[in-house]
Amino acid sequence: MTKSMGTVVARNLAPELTSVQECRQLTGSNPLFGAVFTQHMVTGQYDAENGWHDFQVEPLSPFSFHPATSTLHYGQAIFEGLKAYAQPDGSIAVFRPEVNAQRFAASARRLAMPPLPEQVFEAAIQQLVDVERNWVPQGYGESLYLRPMMFARDARLTTRPSATYTFCLIACPVGAYFPNGVSVVTVWISEDYVRAVRGGTGEAKCAGNYAASFLAQQEATANRCDQVVWLDAIDRETIEEMGGMNLYFVLDDGGQRKLITPVPTGSLLKGVTRASLLTVANDLGYQVEERRITTEEWEHGSRTGTIVESFACGTAAVVTPVGAAKSRKGSFTIGDGAPGPVTMELRQRLLDIQHGRQKDTHGWLCPI
Ligand code: PMP
Repeated sequence: MTKSMGTVVARNLAPELTSVQECRQLTGSNPLFGAVFTQHMVTGQYDAENGWHDFQVEPLSPFSFHPATSTLHYGQAIFEGLKAYAQPDGSIAVFRPEVNAQRFAASARRLAMPPLPEQVFEAAIQQLVDVERNWVPQGYGESLYLRPMMFARDARLTTRPSATYTFCLIACPVGAYFPNGVSVVTVWISEDYVRAVRGGTGEAKCAGNYAASFLAQQEATANRCDQVVWLDAIDRETIEEMGGMNLYFVLDDGGQRKLITPVPTGSLLKGVTRASLLTVANDLGYQVEERRITTEEWEHGSRTGTIVESFACGTAAVVTPVGAAKSRKGSFTIGDGAPGPVTMELRQRLLDIQHGRQKDTHGWLCPI
């Protein structure tokens, strides 16, 4: 079966798409994040002569690589993460794909890779979600997680940018991140390792950033923490972000609640959720400031009651309350260590927009 769908062509689609019932069975009640995959993927190729070409939806299948494939050696690999949500009227909507398309292009430029035209990125998302619509879970907090990626394909050991690349988009049905209600996380402030430095690749969503973070994540786990908080690589006291999420702090400003999030310095990833929450918080009447915040201010504020809540935000878990922070120097609790009201209000409002239960006043939902 071949049908033309704009820039992406569907080839060899499974003759019978999996039924909604089968999809539910295969997904299970709460799949491990990113462990269950749908039936198809989109692929596209790049070479200098043809530019980006040959985009198609095809059955999900493994790649085969020459051992000299440059990605495996020099790490030219980038990716994105975004979600499609079931809407109350039975339709499906993807949350802000154009922002991920822009960030994907920016990541490509930083890694000396050919940026994928944003409209092709969006067309790939449209086509895959359309083909896999039976896989979109229906429950609140559930979604179809979309993973676009791009990697270098030259089979050559020369240290130079590859001349050929592959784009690929896969999808995973994902359950509610917190099936039993929202839980708070304890975070580990990493003093021994850095994630990124200005002029480096921290603002790009590239594979190497994650490889470089795993050792600190192991240290966090060994200290019974869930996630790492990264500090500025030079001053070692300014808070940047977490391993896969941005951070917010809620201040008690003479009885009023005010939000603070670290200002992007060039080394932290500018999250789509972070940007969306800046707007949502404004809509809810909160003042939000993007500014520098240090570990000392966080600890002192939490101990004296001027910082009353902290939370992390990202596509996967949306909003996650941070109950306590630890480092080699000791630990402190934020608020009473439980999910705070501002955190929960913002979380609810954003999830309601994503699930079509709140009016989409900012035009964030892209219908499929
Ligand atoms: N920081 C890092 C390092 C991340 O990997 C992510 C996840 N993409 C985020 C922040 C949050 O970004 P977003 O809200 O776009 O998912």
